[in-house]
Amino acid sequence: MLANYHTHTERCGHAMGSDRDFVEHAIESGIKVLGFSDHCPWVFDDEYVSGIRMTPDEVEGYFRSLTDLKREYADDIRIYIGFEAEYIPQLIEAQDRLLAEYPLDYMIMGQHFNDPESLGVYMGAPVYDESILIQYTDRIIEGMESGRYRYLAHPDLIRFMGDEKAYESQMTRLCTYLKSRDIPVEINLLGMSGGRHYPSDRFFSIAQNVGNKAIIGCDAHLPESLCDDHIIERGRRFAEKYGLEVVETLDGLD
Ligand SMILES: [Zn+2]
Ligand SMILES: [Zn+2]
Repeated sequence: MLANYHTHTERCGHAMGSDRDFVEHAIESGIKVLGFSDHCPWVFDDEYVSGIRMTPDEVEGYFRSLTDLKREYADDIRIYIGFEAEYIPQLIEAQDRLLAEYPLDYMIMGQHFNDPESLGVYMGAPVYDESILIQYTDRIIEGMESGRYRYLAHPDLIRFMGDEKAYESQMTRLCTYLKSRDIPVEINLLGMSGGRHYPSDRFFSIAQNVGNKAIIGCDAHLPESLCDDHIIERGRRFAEKYGLEVVETLDGLD
């Protein structure tokens, strides 16, 4: 694997290992470009504190630590500092203000929620309501149109259990849009390592029909996940199975 842009840190509360551990495991595994994309904080309107993402107070330390590592390991690996985030229109301006002063290299979109998480439905839990499926698709397209995000992480996160025809129609709309903007869909290796409903055959059959490009993302929550050649190989075989061209590196991050 030449590059991985989907790496978390322990700040999100459900990853383990120091920032340095992630960097050293990436180097050991031969990765040349390592993008950190921890779960982006939101500035919530109420007192709500998320248990699955860093808080706004932790942003400073995130950039400080990774900027230091970027310099220290410059001869061995190229490090980029990003975030994985949802697109939530009602909170986006506050998030932009929070991040404005930091040297942010990129973002990827992971649409875990369509609304602030204290109000919203988690997309990875069974969803029966077609209007949520439509909203998921709409939000992703609207977010991508804003130009903030470089690719769509686990595009098949939404676990829609309703009418299969509705799923096919919305995901075809999503894939067609992403293709028109040359935005890759991620083959998520965390999901592939077991126990999750993605990467899903039904989604990637649609991506195959539409002709999307794919990118392989470790979604590493442990440093060791960056060295798991077995899973990386399975991700490549998955892309081959659906005839998807794999994007190896993202352009224009420097
Ligand atoms: Zn996570
Ligand atoms: Zn995610």
